[in-house]
Amino acid sequence: MSETFILAIDQGTTSSRSILFSKEGKPVHTAQKELTQHYPHSGWVEQDAGEIWTDTLATARQAIAKAGSVENIAAIGITNQRETVVLWDKETLEPLCRAIVWQDRRTSEFCRGLKERGLEDMVSSKTGLLIDPYFSCSKIRWALENVDAVAKAAQEKRLAFGTIDSFLLMKLTGGAVHATDITNASRTGLFNIRSQKWDHDLLELYDIPEDILPEVKDNVGLFGQTDPDLFGGKIDIGGMAGDQQAALIGQCCFEKGMIKSTYGTGCFALMNTGSECIQSKNRLLSSIGYRINGDVTYILEGSIFVAGAVIQWLRDELQIIAEAPESEQLARSIQSNDGVYFIPAFTGLGAPHWQPDARASIMGLSRGTGKAHITRAALEAQAYQTQDLLGAMEKDSGIHPERLRVDGGLVANSFVCQFLADILRLEIDVPDVPETTALGAAYLAGLHAGIYDDLDSLAEIWSAESHYSPDMPLQRSVELTHGWRACLDKML
Ligand code: ADP
Repeated sequence: MSETFILAIDQGTTSSRSILFSKEGKPVHTAQKELTQHYPHSGWVEQDAGEIWTDTLATARQAIAKAGSVENIAAIGITNQRETVVLWDKETLEPLCRAIVWQDRRTSEFCRGLKERGLEDMVSSKTGLLIDPYFSCSKIRWALENVDAVAKAAQEKRLAFGTIDSFLLMKLTGGAVHATDITNASRTGLFNIRSQKWDHDLLELYDIPEDILPEVKDNVGLFGQTDPDLFGGKIDIGGMAGDQQAALIGQCCFEKGMIKSTYGTGCFALMNTGSECIQSKNRLLSSIGYRINGDVTYILEGSIFVAGAVIQWLRDELQIIAEAPESEQLARSIQSNDGVYFIPAFTGLGAPHWQPDARASIMGLSRGTGKAHITRAALEAQAYQTQDLLGAMEKDSGIHPERLRVDGGLVANSFVCQFLADILRLEIDVPDVPETTALGAAYLAGLHAGIYDDLDSLAEIWSAESHYSPDMPLQRSVELTHGWRACLDKML
């Protein structure tokens, strides 16, 4: 008998990947292509949606070939970089301009204007988000105003907007389906997360026609079937979620109060807040975690712009390490930070501070400071930044977590994991499948295909590869935290 697989398509900011998972949720094959980034002006970040599609198709074909045939794929799950805007022609399915990436800041001025008009409370109470160029809405408006082909298609009712999931879905179904899932919808800035509908006041505010928007669906269900011309047969697309929510699902954080924190280039921490939509008083974001069978689960989200990126900086700019893993050895070569702190605010400070103009600094240098101190301080910063986020989450939710599930490239560094446990005074769990984002998409598709019964059965198969418990005397971790706080206060 041939084996059954689930195919996860993981379209990220820097690459497009297709990962084949076994029914047991183990990755068995990965096909990946790096994505070209375009920076046409300072602060602008664009990608070619056509390239995203051809790369996704090529990697999916490779993965399906490994599975033997389309019949061996039970379903496809899609996860993606969130917020990035794609605008295409509904008739030809061709993009009308480059995708405007979540990192793109071209609408800063416009967003500042909205804030000055005192609109942030209204926007935030409806969307759970802040007014910021990060989210899709101001970028769609920019394209409608500045790209002729987009304006013309809108006039002729041929224009389609979607985040990457939605664009891929339409391409995969040969133009049959224009839909998105609720987690991606909740990051556009146009979706009311309480009524769970596109919001007319927001559409009016950004002057966006409703007929360009995709239909919003649960995270599990039949999104559509692949065009048989693509893979030689039809496959159900059974699950979809934005990358951070997919990682929450891949980490099986299904109980209220559970948190996952992903340490890649940046860090994203998401707390499951159950059926309650908490309006943050500490500048965290509220979004939808997932909706399955109509039951919605909300999250609080905090993001730190620079996590692993500081290690890349040590490697590429300071050149004090040759490879990222060397940072661990160097950090362990000294007993303490000796009062050196590194605030890696290279691109401003994210949650809960939201200081876009802040810049990185290294403080507490003495004549004896060397590269080991700077490296150690860069790694230790991961824990202090997480502590600031979790502190805000606790204030907003009233929930004090006992454990933290971590993932991302940086958690290969056991110094970081132990220091997280020591500073946060929490148990730190590292899962045995590090690809939590793709795994989450596979789980959603597997739920649709009936491979998994429900979330509880997924939670049962989740397992940790390693655990870290607080080991440092409490007094010492308090002193260290005070040291960080004092440095941060000088910057704020
Ligand atoms: P992304 O998905 O954002 O591209 P990854 O999850 O692949 O990121 O993580 C890559 C990041 O992790 C890089 O910034 C790299 O510097 C960092 N990293 C990888 N391995 C280690 C390590 N052993 N120690 C410290 N940092 C690491």
